[in-house]
Parts: sequence; C-alpha cells; structure tokens
Amino acid sequence: MFDRWLAHRTAALGSSVIEHIFELAAQLEDRVDLSIGQPHFEVPAPIQEAAVRAIRSGRNRYSPSQGIEPLREWLREKIRSTYLGDDRDVMITCGTSGALVLAVLALVNPGDQVILFDPWFVVYEALVKLVGAEPVYVDTYPNFRIDPEKVERAITARTKLIIVNTPNNPTGVAATHDELKALALLALDRGIALLSDEIYRAYCYDAPFVSPGHFNPFTIVADGFSKTYAAPGWRLGFIHGPKPIIDQMVKIQQYTFVCPPHPLQWAMLQAQDADVTPHIADYRRKRDVLVEGLADYYRLVRPTGAFYAFPEVPWADGKTFTEFALRQFRLLLVPGGVFSRRDTHFRIAYAVDDNTLVRGIEILRQLAKNPPSL
Ligand code: PMP
Repeated sequence: MFDRWLAHRTAALGSSVIEHIFELAAQLEDRVDLSIGQPHFEVPAPIQEAAVRAIRSGRNRYSPSQGIEPLREWLREKIRSTYLGDDRDVMITCGTSGALVLAVLALVNPGDQVILFDPWFVVYEALVKLVGAEPVYVDTYPNFRIDPEKVERAITARTKLIIVNTPNNPTGVAATHDELKALALLALDRGIALLSDEIYRAYCYDAPFVSPGHFNPFTIVADGFSKTYAAPGWRLGFIHGPKPIIDQMVKIQQYTFVCPPHPLQWAMLQAQDADVTPHIADYRRKRDVLVEGLADYYRLVRPTGAFYAFPEVPWADGKTFTEFALRQFRLLLVPGGVFSRRDTHFRIAYAVDDNTLVRGIEILRQLAKNPPSL
C-alpha cells in the first residue's frame, strides 16, 4: 500500500551508502575510520561559550527567515571585498545543504538539465532528481580537472544550471584560477546559472582559494560554517548571489525551514575572532603524510584542498575493495561509485587524529600489496 502512497521522486533516490557505512562503523569496535567527512577538532571554545550564552539569554525563538542581521552584515563585508556583483546579498541557511536545497528549488524546473562534474558531491545528483530535472555529467577523470571545452559540449537548450565544487569532495582537488575563470565566463556568456559550493574554502593547501564568483558577478555561492569551524551538527550555512535570486530563496526558506537555528547564529558571530589556521596547517601536514604514505602503492591525484583523497583501486572495483577493507581490517572507506558513474576509486577522509591516519596508511599499504584471490 505504501508504494502507492509514496511519491515517484522517492524512487529516484538510492539509499545512502554513506549512511550505511556510518551504521556499520557504529557497531564496530576498534575500527579505523577514514570514511567521515567532518573535522576531528572541536568548535573553538569562544564560539561554544557564545552558544550557551545565546541560549541562556533567550535567543530561542524564531529568527528572521533570512538570518540575523549582524551575521549577514559580517558576511556581506567579507563577500564585498572579493566577489563581483554590486547587488550581491547573503542569507543564512540550515547548513550548506540547506543552501543547496534553496538554490535548486529556486532555479531548477522539472525537465531542466543540470551539469555536474563527475565525481560529484552526492547531494547534487539527488537534489536534481528530486526536482524532476536531469543531471548531465561532465567527466573529470583521470586528473579531476575542469575542462571548459567539455562543459561547452555538454550545454544544450535545456541547460539551466552548472554546479561546481572546489576544493572538491570527494577528490580533494582545488580547481585552478584558469579553470574557474574559463568556467565562470562560459556560464556568463551562455546565460547559464552557476552554483559554486565553497564549503571547503578555508582548506586550501597549495594556492589561495579561487571562486568562479571572482569572475562572474551572477555566481551563486553556497558556503557554510560546518567545516571551517568544525560545527556540522549546528546546521548553519549561508548563500550569496544576485539579490533578486536570494530574495526568492528567503521566501522558500520561510515556507520550509522557517529559519536557521537562532541561538547558534548569534554564537557564530564569534567566528570573526576565531583563528582556525593552526587546524588548516595541521590538515596540510596530514595531507602530506597520507600522500607520501601511499605514493608507491596507489595511483593518486595529489589533493590540494578539503580533507579527502581519491585514489584508484589497485584491484577490483570500489565496492569490492572497500567491503574487503572493512571485513578484513575494520578499515572504513567510501567506494567511489557513491560519487560517480564509475566505481574505480575510493574516498579517504583524513580529518582524523594522527594515530588513526598512520594505522589507516599501514592497512592501505597491505591492501595494495596483497590482493585477495577473488
Ligand atoms: N557540500 C559539500 C561539498 C560537502 O562535502 C558537504 C558536507 N559533507 C556539504 C555541502 C554539506 O554541508 P553542511 O553540513 O553544511 O550541510
């Protein structure tokens, strides 16, 4: 009976493999968990204390749908100095995920095409399908670079939106200045909306962060506090772009999420004084340890941002490899097929303590050297 009740859009989504891995992980003792995409450090203490103060001082009712003004004003100032667009505005959202939901609901009609780079962050494909649109994939293997010519070839009369994510989940690769400039100008020239997911903006290890919004004033930018301040459970993000588009997203937020968590918005004002650069430096070092540790064992594109690496599976496919790693070594990884039309790679999240990282590298070396007889 429930089959008849459920809307068709529910069938468009597979169950989340990542969720399944989290469930397995919770049951395993003494696991080596390189599957979780969230920082392992704590929310900076002054921000935590500000959250307690905000709750104790009665900031517990709704906030305006677009978020509290002091937080928007701080973000506006930061955005004005680097992004193009005179009428750019910002609203606070329920995580970066909330920002992505609002953007897709505000921009994409059923039957539209949305260009995604393969591999992609899982949520993009799901959202596009939920609104009855069609994902169009632009392959970035083997180097995970953006090729504007490939994007141009993927554009049709139905193309409504391009979604780009740099630094990237799952590859850890940050797109270059030239790639992003070419993409930004292509979207501008063809009149196609461009949504840039910049949640890993703070995690750039080899070159300063670049946004397509530095070249295209109409770029819509989804961003958030989850990764920069290690607060994914707080569900706070933001989105900025042309004011007429942001205004429509505020309307959608009013009728759906209502507002982002109110006391936590006040707490995040403290982020203005928080210095996370020691954490970023620590993650850069972890990146180096990982890359060096796997160098002679895996084909790996050197990650330059976020906290992921996406090596090629040396034998079998991603699913077989990650299941074997789990069964044999209690090592948790995510198969590449979760993020891609191919299942040839696997994702490592290295936002972990050094002990876990070193154990993980040791197991990965054994796995590469000793394939089981399949
Ligand atoms: N975009 C990307 C690329 C991500 O990796 C994530 C989190 N894994 C999100 C968005 C969602 O972030 P949030 O927790 O702020 O909703």
